[in-house]
Amino acid sequence: MTDAKQPDAKQPDAKQLAAKQEEAVDPSAPVTGMDYFMKLEYHELLCPVVREFADALMDKRLIGHKCPKCGLIYSPPRGYCPICTVQTTKADEIEIQTHGIVTNYTVVTPVQYYGQEETEPFAKVSLQLDGGGTLSLQDLPGVPVEQVHPGMRVEIVWAPDDERHVDDVTNRSWGSAEGAIRGWKPTGEADADPSEYSDKTF
Ligand SMILES: [Zn+2]
Repeated sequence: MTDAKQPDAKQPDAKQLAAKQEEAVDPSAPVTGMDYFMKLEYHELLCPVVREFADALMDKRLIGHKCPKCGLIYSPPRGYCPICTVQTTKADEIEIQTHGIVTNYTVVTPVQYYGQEETEPFAKVSLQLDGGGTLSLQDLPGVPVEQVHPGMRVEIVWAPDDERHVDDVTNRSWGSAEGAIRGWKPTGEADADPSEYSDKTF
């Protein structure tokens, strides 16, 4: 009986590497390439407005910046309104509601690349929050993907206090913060009329 153990895709297999090196039959031939295994870890500092967004998440609050010129609400805050090309500051910060309407969604069918932990299709939704503000890339845990649709009324589900973190919030996370927001759950109310959100679909 042979040992059929497969090499771990995370680690270079030392025996395989050694065998490959021995395959080099002509030591005088020019080197045209070589295998090199490496690991890089990136530590990204959050810009100040995203840091404030992350800190608020830890307090179970959603914040955004309201453009002083056009009134659009950006969450997470960006520190500017790209439409009006004006800066927004702490003075423009507002707290936004933790309930709203699903305006759009995408069903992701996982490709089984190395490190992929998802095996079943899942939905990511965009939300229009009551009172203004939007969030993208949000989850509806426990809701079958075939039941996800625009107009659903949902409310936030915070991660428990002892588990909540913002390690996955980045400067480009668009409101995705799975360590703090577990997802959104249907409120059970009737669907919103399309006129409430059709011009706010992202
Ligand atoms: Zn504006």
